[in-house]
Amino acid sequence: MRNEFLPFTRPAINEADIRAVTEVLRSGWITNGPQNAALESGVCEITGNRFGVALSSATAAMHLLMKIMKLGPGDEVITPSMTWVSIVNMIVLAGATPVFCEIDRETMLATPESIAEKITPRTKLIIPVHFAGAALDLDGIYRVAGEIPVVEDAAHALGTYYKGRHIGSTGAAIYSFHAIKNVTTGEGGMFVTNNEEDAALMRRWKFHGIGMDAFDRQNRGRSPQAEVIEPGFKYNLTDICAAIGVSQLSRLVNINTRRRELAMLYRRELANVPEIRPLADPDYDFKHAWHLFVVRVDTPKIDRNSFMTELKARNIGTGLHFRCAHLQKYYREVMGFRPGMLPATEYNSDRICSLPLFPDMTFDDVIDVVEAIKAVLAGK
Ligand SMILES: *Cc1c(COP(=O)(O)O)cnc(C)c1O
Repeated sequence: MRNEFLPFTRPAINEADIRAVTEVLRSGWITNGPQNAALESGVCEITGNRFGVALSSATAAMHLLMKIMKLGPGDEVITPSMTWVSIVNMIVLAGATPVFCEIDRETMLATPESIAEKITPRTKLIIPVHFAGAALDLDGIYRVAGEIPVVEDAAHALGTYYKGRHIGSTGAAIYSFHAIKNVTTGEGGMFVTNNEEDAALMRRWKFHGIGMDAFDRQNRGRSPQAEVIEPGFKYNLTDICAAIGVSQLSRLVNINTRRRELAMLYRRELANVPEIRPLADPDYDFKHAWHLFVVRVDTPKIDRNSFMTELKARNIGTGLHFRCAHLQKYYREVMGFRPGMLPATEYNSDRICSLPLFPDMTFDDVIDVVEAIKAVLAGK
C-alpha cells in the first residue's frame, strides 16, 4: 500500500507560473489589465474564436449569458442533468426552466437525438457538456438545434478537438479555470464567441454595466468618465490570477499530452478488471482533453461510495463528477424530478467515480491506483 496519499487532482503549477504571478504583484497593476487581455487572446488563439471575455468563473459567464439572452419565466434551456450544478442553478435563478436531456450510457455525452427530443417552441438555449474532455457530436447537435442558440459547456474541454477543429470554435462556449481544470487560474472562467455584440455585452455586464472594464488600454488605467449604461455585476478576474492562466496556456499541449498518456495506461491496466468500467469513446473523429478519468463501479460486490471510502483508506483519493442534478434535493422537491426519468444518467450517477489524473502524476502512481482497486475488489 502507498505510504503517501495520492490526491484525485493537483494543479500543475511550475516556477514559470509563480514567476508570472510575482511579476504582476511587482507591476503596480494587480486587477484586470494586460494579463486578462493576454489570457483572452491566448484562449482565442487556441480555440479559433474571435472574442474572449475573461471572468471570475464559468458560473459567472453562465449568469451573464442568461442576462444577455434575456432568459426568464416561460423560457426553456436544454442541458444534461449530468453536469456541474452551477449551470442548472443559473438557469433556475434566471427564472427559466431547465429541461434535462439524456446522455449516452457509455460515453456520458448528450447526443443530437437526446437533445432533439427535448426541443419545444419554448426552447431558447441549449448548453451541452463536453463531458470529461471528450467532444460532443457537434455536427449533429448544431443540425438539430437549427436556429436555437447553442453555448457549449467547455469547462472540461480546453484542447478538445472535433473533426480537426477546436470545439466551440463555430459558435460560443464557456471555459472554467477552477483549480481542478486542465488550465487553472485558481478560480476563473471565460466566455468565447464569434459574435461581437454578445462579447461586448458580456464585457459590460461583468463590470457594473459601465461601458468598459477596469483597465482602459489607451490610458493604461481606469477611465474616470465611464458611466453606467445598465446596472451590471462585478465578475472580473484579477491579473494575479490571469497571469497563472497565461503561463499555463503555453504548456497546454504538454499538459494534455501527459493526461492522455496516464489515461491510456489506466485503460490498459483496467482492461482486465471487469468490475470497473471506464467510459467509452464516441465513434467520430475527435481529440480528448482528458480532464477526468471516469470509471463506473459496476459490480454487486461493492457500491461506489464504499469503493471510494476503501480507496481512501488505501491512500488513493477519488472524485465524483457528477451527482446528477435532477435528483438533488431542491430539484426533486421543488421541481418534481423523480428517479427513473433519465435512466442512463441515473445509472452513471450511481456508479461513477473519477480516478486520480493530473500532469505531475507518475506511471507508478497509476499502477498504485490499479493495484489498490484490485485489492479492494479482492477483499469482497
Ligand atoms: C467546473 C465546471 C463548471 C463551472 O466552472 P466554475 O469556473 O467553477 O464556475 C461548469 N460546468 C462544468 C461541466 C464544470 O465542470
